[in-house]
Amino acid sequence: MYLGRPNTPVKVMDFHLDRLLALPDVTVESCQEIEEDICLNLRLLNEGINCPHCQHYTEDIHQNRPGLIRDLSICGRRVYLKVPRRQFRCSHCGKSPREPLLFLKPYRRHTKRYEEYIYQRVVATNIEQVSREEKLNYDEIKGIFDYISRQHLKKNWQPAKRISIDEISSHKGHQDFKTVVSDIDRGKLLEVIDSHTQAGVAEALKSQPSQLRNQVEEVSVDMWGGFPKVIKQVFPNAQIVFDRFHVMKTVNDELNKLRRRLGVTSKRSRYLLLKNAANLTLEEQTELDRVLAPSPCLRIAYELKEELHLIYETSRTFTQGKNKITKWLRLAQLFYHSASRTIRQHLDGICNYFIHRTTSGTMEGINNKIQLTKRQAYGFTNFNHMRSRLIAAFDCK
Ligand SMILES: [Zn+2]
Repeated sequence: MYLGRPNTPVKVMDFHLDRLLALPDVTVESCQEIEEDICLNLRLLNEGINCPHCQHYTEDIHQNRPGLIRDLSICGRRVYLKVPRRQFRCSHCGKSPREPLLFLKPYRRHTKRYEEYIYQRVVATNIEQVSREEKLNYDEIKGIFDYISRQHLKKNWQPAKRISIDEISSHKGHQDFKTVVSDIDRGKLLEVIDSHTQAGVAEALKSQPSQLRNQVEEVSVDMWGGFPKVIKQVFPNAQIVFDRFHVMKTVNDELNKLRRRLGVTSKRSRYLLLKNAANLTLEEQTELDRVLAPSPCLRIAYELKEELHLIYETSRTFTQGKNKITKWLRLAQLFYHSASRTIRQHLDGICNYFIHRTTSGTMEGINNKIQLTKRQAYGFTNFNHMRSRLIAAFDCK
């Protein structure tokens, strides 16, 4: 057998099938071929278990009904594990606990790693494709996919204290909006909801246990959706924050419109105007000065945008922020008609930002990731596809 370069000593080791299988606390007793499939008979290495009810150790087997469990294929052949499913008797508390196995969830017919594999394959392709590859029927694949999706989401929700609710369109330029819920502190997606109406969003969020919903302390939203009402219903202990990222975006959008109206259309003008002044390079600063030179009006609007950014950076309390923004609005309303009206209407919620100072970086990160995933998928064919893609994108962070 040729292994490695000639004249290079190669370490060759025999190893038992157990090592290939790499499952904890089991050994392969025997292998069988059943037509094209491989069946591995497993023996469990532990004699007994600690009773999960009282922690008493027991080896007293009540019954043992082996089950056939599908695992990852080997060399393109389907693999089934014959796994003893043991139920013990506990003399201490009188109960008959089932043995927990690390690689298999109770009542499942596939190993954990196989179900995770199916999930990842569906995310990368689609249910039909995976169904053909794995020779499992459509409903089985879909069942596994939904089960693992739910597990992932459940894991995500556990300790969420600060969340954001946001609208996205599933196709660029289309009006079919969906709602995305994310955990701000961990930059994770919690849920994608196939609706952006108040009733639809409220219903989907209420499916989470109230114990989890009561833990949520802060909900960030943009100012356009009718979400505040929903938030009060669903997250009774949460404070509503109109997110900094969205406030700045509203101002930036209007600044960009003004730029076009004033006929400033040079190639990089949009980029230069919208970028934070602090992040401009020296060359970019010079270039921006050239862009602004012919239009004093655009210059003032630009400086107002930067001033708002500075207020966000430097204000430390609700009152301080509110005073500064109120003062800012007096001049800003002359240049930013619609943005300043929106800001005035939502002023308290906007200033709640100064209490916890939720970083806009995280929000921006989540938003960018969503946009990127959308672009990579070239628009989503249907809602479930979009949902699973987005959840998976945040999963493999
Ligand atoms: Zn017990």
